[in-house]
Amino acid sequence: MATAGKVIKCKAAVAWEAGKPLSIEEVEVAPPQAMEVRLKILFTALCHTDVYFWEAKGQTPVFPRILGHEAGGIVESVGEGVTELSPGDHVLPVFTGECKDCRHCQSEESNLCDLLRINTDRGAMIADGQTRFTARGQPVYHFLGTSTFSEYTVVHVGCVAKISPAAPLDKVCVLSCGISTGFGATVNVAKPPKGCTVAIFGLGAVGLAAMEGARISGASRIIGVDLNPAKYEQAKKFGCTDFVNPKDYDKPVQEVIVEMTNGGVDRSVECTGNAAAMISAFECVHDGWGVAVLVGVAGKEAVFKTHPINFLNERTLKGTFFGNYKPRTDLPGVVDMYMNKELELEKFITHSVPFSEINKAFDLMLSGESIRCIIRMQD
Ligand code: NAD
Ligand code: ZN
Repeated sequence: MATAGKVIKCKAAVAWEAGKPLSIEEVEVAPPQAMEVRLKILFTALCHTDVYFWEAKGQTPVFPRILGHEAGGIVESVGEGVTELSPGDHVLPVFTGECKDCRHCQSEESNLCDLLRINTDRGAMIADGQTRFTARGQPVYHFLGTSTFSEYTVVHVGCVAKISPAAPLDKVCVLSCGISTGFGATVNVAKPPKGCTVAIFGLGAVGLAAMEGARISGASRIIGVDLNPAKYEQAKKFGCTDFVNPKDYDKPVQEVIVEMTNGGVDRSVECTGNAAAMISAFECVHDGWGVAVLVGVAGKEAVFKTHPINFLNERTLKGTFFGNYKPRTDLPGVVDMYMNKELELEKFITHSVPFSEINKAFDLMLSGESIRCIIRMQD
């Protein structure tokens, strides 16, 4: 390719300051170094994590920065030592990686790669501690190793999943973060048996994806739990049969659910990030076999407290990161599930905007209107 080995000038949305609208401007993107690839991003979506680090409230402020981590694109060029990817491959960049060498990558039970595990404060490439972006003559930091709010970006090869070229990138791009997280939490970790009852706490994108996993697993009853009553209507499209708003009761929501289900649900998946909801999600599962899975990321001070008898009575508590998927090994198969019509993605995509209107995607997320808003990089 004519651009390989050269600096590419292209458009990127740069966050110069916390909470200020992103500014679309020309950036220079350096060629990929050893074990890196340069991607042409075609579609990216906005996820809550982008918003948290853009607001930088309670987070380390790292600016100027190019945010974005949920995306689909095409390999433009590869650095030295990259053998698994070639220019033209269709890929999903992922905020966590799979080096395939470390103890975690070697273990069938873990997806927490030692080398490429998520690091929200790191703003540079791991090879040399430098950034590959320059704007207005100064370095611009990376975000989650992906920085997809740019027409071109440089990513470590371990954070790139090669997928079927037949898969529409404007749809499957949402599998690069939130949807796989929730879906995997249910199908890989909670593993609901057919006909069972499942409670999903928190009906944002992650919770709705967890719900989709319950629907596909053949759950006969799916109880959605959210403090926002408006979430029920949307959740019905994902198989929600009952809705519980903890605010409507003067007793703990776990007691409400235990009564509704004659002893508790078979599985629960927590997708709120709220510690009280995590405890409720555990305490509402049936004794003898119930399994609760935590997905939400709680605040620094959070404490999980429950009586040990809840464990003795044969309830299981688990947690999961990125739905237990190993990004390079497992994501291509999730994309194939979509292609085989086993998994629906369209209903997660509520909005779409051209790159020039990327700030509108932030407004839609902050107002709670969107589940996922796709940003079209080439419009
Ligand atoms: P979101 O903010 O869109 O949705 C959360 C929902 O939970 C909201 O609808 C909110 O009303 C509801 N909620 C909040 N507190 C509640 C409570 N006490 N009881 C019931 N409902 C409550 O968020 P999201 O993007 O869907 O993400 C959900 C969580 O998953 C977040 O904590 C996020 O950080 C986490 N996450 C985890 C991973 C992972 O790998 N483990 C990956 C991505 C996101
Ligand atoms: Zn690894």
